[in-house]
Amino acid sequence: MAAPIAVLFDIDETLVHTGGAGARSWAWAFDQLHGVAADIGKHTSAGETDPEVGWKTFRAVLGRDPTHDEMARLYAAYLWHLADDIRTSEHYRVLDGVEETLTRIADAGVILGVLSGAMEGAARTKLEPANLGRYFVFGAYGSDSPDRPEVTRLAIAKAARLHGSDLGAQDVYVVGDTPLDVQAAHAANATAVAVASGHYTAQALQAVKPDHVLGSLLEPFPGL
Ligand SMILES: [Mg+2]
Repeated sequence: MAAPIAVLFDIDETLVHTGGAGARSWAWAFDQLHGVAADIGKHTSAGETDPEVGWKTFRAVLGRDPTHDEMARLYAAYLWHLADDIRTSEHYRVLDGVEETLTRIADAGVILGVLSGAMEGAARTKLEPANLGRYFVFGAYGSDSPDRPEVTRLAIAKAARLHGSDLGAQDVYVVGDTPLDVQAAHAANATAVAVASGHYTAQALQAVKPDHVLGSLLEPFPGL
C-alpha cells in the first residue's frame, strides 16, 4: 500500500471530545434568541454538518423554517458561546493516539487537512484548547456546504491544488468516526478510514464498508 498524498481528519470524536460544548452552545443560542429549549441530540445525528444541525433543530423546536437572518444570528450566538464553553468544558479531551498519529503523518511528508461538518469558526475553536490547529495546512468545513459529500469534494480539490495535480482515491484518506464520514469519503472518491472513537463501534462502522477500520488512533495508521 503506497502512502497517501493527503489525509483529511474529522474533528468531533475523531480528534477531540468536546465534553458536550457543541450541544450546550446550540442550546444556549436557541434559548437566547428564541427562548426555547433545544437539544440537538434529539433532532440530528453525529456527523451532520452545523448548517444541517441548526436548520433541523430550528424546524423541530420552532415548527417553521428559519429565515436567513435568523440562521445568521443563530450561528453567531452558537460560536460566541462555544468559544467560552470549550475553555471550561470539564470533559474536553484529545482522543487517544491523535498527536502521535498526526506527527507521524506529517513526518511522512503527507499533507494534513481538516474535513469537518463544523463551521470554520467552530472548527478552529474546537481545536484551540489542545493547540491542534498547528497540524493542519488547510481545511473544508460545514460553512462551505451543508452537504458532507460536497465538503469532502471541496477538501480534496483544495488538497489537489496544493499538491499541483489531480488526486485519486488512493491518494486521499478521509478519517472519521461516523457512517456519514465513510459515505461522504466514498461519494467523493476517497479512501475511508473509520475510527471507533465516537458513538459507533467498529462493527457498526463495518456496515458501511470503510476501506479501513481502527479501534482508535493508537493502532497503526494505514499506508504509513
Ligand atoms: Mg465526528
